[in-house]
Amino acid sequence: MVSFDDVQRLNRGYVLKPASATDTGQSQVVPILAYYVHHPDGGILFDAGIAPLDAETEEFYRPHRVDLSETLERHGRSLSDVRVVVPCHLHFDHIGDLAQLVGRPVVVQRTEHELAKEPGYTVDGLADDDTISWELIDGEEELMADIRIVPTPGHTAGHQSMVVRAEEGTLVLAGQAFDTASEYSAAYLNLSVSTGSNSNVDIPDLPYPDWLPHLQSFRPSAVVFAHDLPMWTTAS
Ligand SMILES: [Zn+2]
Repeated sequence: MVSFDDVQRLNRGYVLKPASATDTGQSQVVPILAYYVHHPDGGILFDAGIAPLDAETEEFYRPHRVDLSETLERHGRSLSDVRVVVPCHLHFDHIGDLAQLVGRPVVVQRTEHELAKEPGYTVDGLADDDTISWELIDGEEELMADIRIVPTPGHTAGHQSMVVRAEEGTLVLAGQAFDTASEYSAAYLNLSVSTGSNSNVDIPDLPYPDWLPHLQSFRPSAVVFAHDLPMWTTAS
C-alpha cells in the first residue's frame, strides 16, 4: 500500500485561455497538473502534459510546457519509474508526453478512445497511433492493489478518475471531472443535503453527477484536480 508521500503532484505548465473563451470575459491562466503514484508494482502517471499543437491552436492557448523528466526529477523520480499511464481523458492537455512513454500501457475508457477518433477532438491521429500501447477498459477497474479507475463522465463521455487507497486515507485523482475544487464541493454539498436526514424543509432538486455517490463511497479524505491548485477535503 502506498502512503501520501508516494503521491506527487507534477506541475506540467499552463495554458492561457483568452477572454473570448472564458465565462468572465477576462483571460485566465489554466494550470496543467498531473500526478505520479509510486506504487510497489510500478509507477503510475495520471495525465501526461500538453501536446504539441498546430500553429493556430498554439497561438490561441499560448501554452507553457514543463518537461516531464524535469518535473519527475524534482520529486526524486525519473521517467524510467513510470510503468503505466492513465490519462483522465484524451484532450490535448492530458496526453502530451505519450511519445516519451512508448512501451507503457496507456489505460483509457474505450468510449474515450472512440471519441478521440473524431476530427478536432484531440491531436490528429492520436487514437490510431499504433506506437501507443492502448489498453482499453469498459468502466471500473482495479489497476493495481488499492488503485481503482472509476468512470466520471461529464467533461467528456469517457472521462475517468483514479482512487488511491493510501495508508493515511483515500485520495481521488479527479482530473477534469470538475474544473475546480469549489465546483466539486458544491456538488458534494448538493449530494449531502439531498440524501441527508433533514426532513423539516422541502429540499429542491440539487444537481450532482450520477457517479458522485459512488465516488464518495470510497470516503476520500482529499480530491485533487487537473486544472485547480486547491484540493477538496472532508469536513467532519
Ligand atoms: Zn484539460
